[in-house]
Amino acid sequence: MNAPEPAFMPAPLEAIVFDNSFAGLPENFFTRLPPAGLPDPYLVGFSPAVAGLIGLDEQEARRAMFCQVFAGNTLLPGSAPLAAVYSGHQFGVWAGQLGDGRAHLLGGLSNQLGHWEIQLKGAGKTPYSRSADGRAVLRSSIREFLCSEAMAGLGIPTTRALCIVGADLGVRREEIESAAVVTRIAESFVRFGSFEHWASREKNGELKRLADYVIDTFRPACRGFDNPYAALLADVSTRTGELMARWMAVGFMHGVMNTDNMSILGLTLDYGPFGFMEAFDAGHICNHSDDHGRYTYRNQPHVAQWNLYRLADALATLIGKPSAAHAVVDAHYGEAFESRFEQLMRAKLGLAAAHESDEDFIGETFALLQQHRPDFTLFFRTLSRLPAAVNPETQAKIDAPLRDQFIDRSACDVWLASWRARQVLTPWPDSERQAAMLAANPKYILRNWLAEAAIRQAKEKDYSELARIQLCLSKPFEEQPEFEAYAALPPDWAQGLEVSCSS
Ligand code: AMP
Ligand code: MG
Repeated sequence: MNAPEPAFMPAPLEAIVFDNSFAGLPENFFTRLPPAGLPDPYLVGFSPAVAGLIGLDEQEARRAMFCQVFAGNTLLPGSAPLAAVYSGHQFGVWAGQLGDGRAHLLGGLSNQLGHWEIQLKGAGKTPYSRSADGRAVLRSSIREFLCSEAMAGLGIPTTRALCIVGADLGVRREEIESAAVVTRIAESFVRFGSFEHWASREKNGELKRLADYVIDTFRPACRGFDNPYAALLADVSTRTGELMARWMAVGFMHGVMNTDNMSILGLTLDYGPFGFMEAFDAGHICNHSDDHGRYTYRNQPHVAQWNLYRLADALATLIGKPSAAHAVVDAHYGEAFESRFEQLMRAKLGLAAAHESDEDFIGETFALLQQHRPDFTLFFRTLSRLPAAVNPETQAKIDAPLRDQFIDRSACDVWLASWRARQVLTPWPDSERQAAMLAANPKYILRNWLAEAAIRQAKEKDYSELARIQLCLSKPFEEQPEFEAYAALPPDWAQGLEVSCSS
């Protein structure tokens, strides 16, 4: 059989045809300005999969021109660079105007796979930089690059990352670090805060213009409703609910769920001090500046809803009144989150069908995790291989891989007995169930120590570990014997690793 035809022929950089729909908005939506670029840029990381999304031949990454373009030194024909303005609530408090302080949109393009905006992060100051330097450091760029691609591998909606370009340019953070630019690709970078910006200034024309742009470009089905703006809010409420369920099911913690970091398309957006749950603790805070624990794992679903209410407030004049807009969130968010979360948890637990006891059993599972703190990912991956029925004589041996994750093995035994009793209610042959569970419970996640290992080598200008981790995380549900070590708990050198939130 012939190999399937590619969707389109991969093309060189110069063949990118920008349509720049965002740049077609009125001039007060952004400031047009070229990126500042980087001196003598070199390639640090590259995602062939993302190149494919924008129709770019992956061989293009070998060209010197590639680094020049994605450092912001050379503009492609048709590029109309700009920094967008937005506002937002940070840590629950109105922060006023923010905007792309270190992001330059190079332009947008459309192809068979969708609409794609290409954005540089870290290519210099903009009018929205406030007192900051417009730069991003290598460390945080690697974290954003790896996590974007890891989330995509997990099947979670996210902005993508095409590449990281580095330079020997010092940037001051807690210490001097080297600068980098990460190129992000997404259907759109419009945020809840983009709407709050116009609503806070009572600029109803601009507010409507932005909503019309999002609807007509990305959500045309909303036009079929009596009030397309209410339909847009319903859509983003549903997608955000599903996104929260997906984050919670893989143990992802965003760390800075401010309204300016919430995507109108329901994508994971703006990777900063994020983390993946290791030893389970629902109260875990992955952002060192989050003194009150606003963005803990367990608070994420609640905070997302609070953020949706702020978006609803912003859209209220287009929908009718604030109470009507809040009612739209109420009608869609909770149901989307809960039903998707239950479905994902049933898949993680290998439950063949729903049962009225599921909510209680899922609660019992989280209580076990909270009390005994096994590694969240390893727990479910190990469970995936256990049989539904066991003979009492061999049980301890068969269950050992899971029991050994507990100091109090009897607590694990008690829970396993409940799990097996639950299996009887909706029986599923072991081989089928195990295959389904292995497809629902990733083996590989971006553990902090993995990102740190990639960063330490990259600081020595060795990018091979970064490339290996990226490759491994692109197939997180597959056994990859060559990457077995990446599934492990933090090694000794990484115990108590602190993640700096400066970026
Ligand atoms: P964040 O919460 O990290 O997504 O960023 C909040 C705001 O600060 C956004 O307006 C960013 O563009 C801006 N910002 C963060 N870091 C920098 C930087 N190094 N230079 C300029 N602006 C920045
Ligand atoms: Mg941000």
